[in-house]
Amino acid sequence: MSIKKLDPDVINKIAAGEIIISPTNALKELIENSIDASSKSIDISIQNNGFKILQISDDGSGIKKEDYPILCHRFTTSKITKFEDLSEIDTFGFRGEALSSISHIAHLSVTSKRRNEDLAWKCQFERGQMIDETLKPSAGNQGTTITVSDLFYNVPSRLRSLRQKDEFNKIFDVIGKYAINNPGIAFSLRKIGDSRIALVIKKDLNIKDRIRTIYTSIVSNDLIDFNINVSAEDTDDYGKIGFISCSGMVANLNYSNQVKRNIQPIFFINNRLVTCDPLKRSIDQTYSSYLPRGASRPFVYLNIKLNPRILDVNVHPTKSEVRFLHEEEIINIITLRLHEFLSKLDSSRTFKANT
Ligand code: ADP
Ligand code: MG
Repeated sequence: MSIKKLDPDVINKIAAGEIIISPTNALKELIENSIDASSKSIDISIQNNGFKILQISDDGSGIKKEDYPILCHRFTTSKITKFEDLSEIDTFGFRGEALSSISHIAHLSVTSKRRNEDLAWKCQFERGQMIDETLKPSAGNQGTTITVSDLFYNVPSRLRSLRQKDEFNKIFDVIGKYAINNPGIAFSLRKIGDSRIALVIKKDLNIKDRIRTIYTSIVSNDLIDFNINVSAEDTDDYGKIGFISCSGMVANLNYSNQVKRNIQPIFFINNRLVTCDPLKRSIDQTYSSYLPRGASRPFVYLNIKLNPRILDVNVHPTKSEVRFLHEEEIINIITLRLHEFLSKLDSSRTFKANT
């Protein structure tokens, strides 16, 4: 067969499928957009585990009416203007691909009101384009509501490959993690048609209470704050490799007496939810000398700040992986400090046991 250029529609659909791989992952993009818009309250409603309807409402800055025509075009963003901006990025978004991708594989409706405008504007989008006659003034509070319906309606193979019933737990999980890492922002999740709310996190709830709400008090009772304070002597060394800070909550040494389930460690690097297997392995190893053999995996939530210049956020279509320079040194700093921290807990435990 000879080589032919693909139809733009096909290209867009293929690209969209790489970025939006599941309802959970669409929701993650939408939550990040709401946080980028400085929202303080984010409410999510779903039907059929996000496959039928996935709706997110925020109270953020809103979208300008003039921006609607290009809102769902590919590579349109308000967040960066040149490639170099990526090295100092402080927003989640930068590629302008999420809304565009969603509009190629779902029906998308957007309602948004800016603070000083009298009206909200509502519009539907299909395959990257605004459907002109659907742009209408509407009532509404400040902020943006995005409704995604019939996700993957035109990608039957994807629909078949996803286990619909697993998706609720994944959606709950991703909202929970963003709620933990964003104190000061309220979150809620409800299933449309169900009178009980699945998750409510009030704005003022502190991190420990957020963890309690999401993972129950059996988990949160045996957690302790863990912070790496960078002393004056460390500043130079850490600065050279780009390590800025690390804070979070981790299991104390009584933890696995109570908790019988394994919760995977939660890592945020510069506020991005990421997986980092080497860090996970060295944390497991560190704990293994303090917790009994065969104990359940300790809860670990770390919010790590690195110099954006050493971070490459653009390595993965779903941005779930980031690469950074000096990975080994940085992981060493964190695990060494955790080791010191746990050994202090351990000696106070021994001391108590002996008195
Ligand atoms: P990116 O986040 O990479 O810029 P997106 O496709 O996710 O790309 O969003 C495109 C643009 O739409 C954003 O740059 C932003 O200006 C606007 N936008 C999207 N969601 C929201 C929201 N919830 N509130 C305000 N503006 C939004
Ligand atoms: Mg985005």
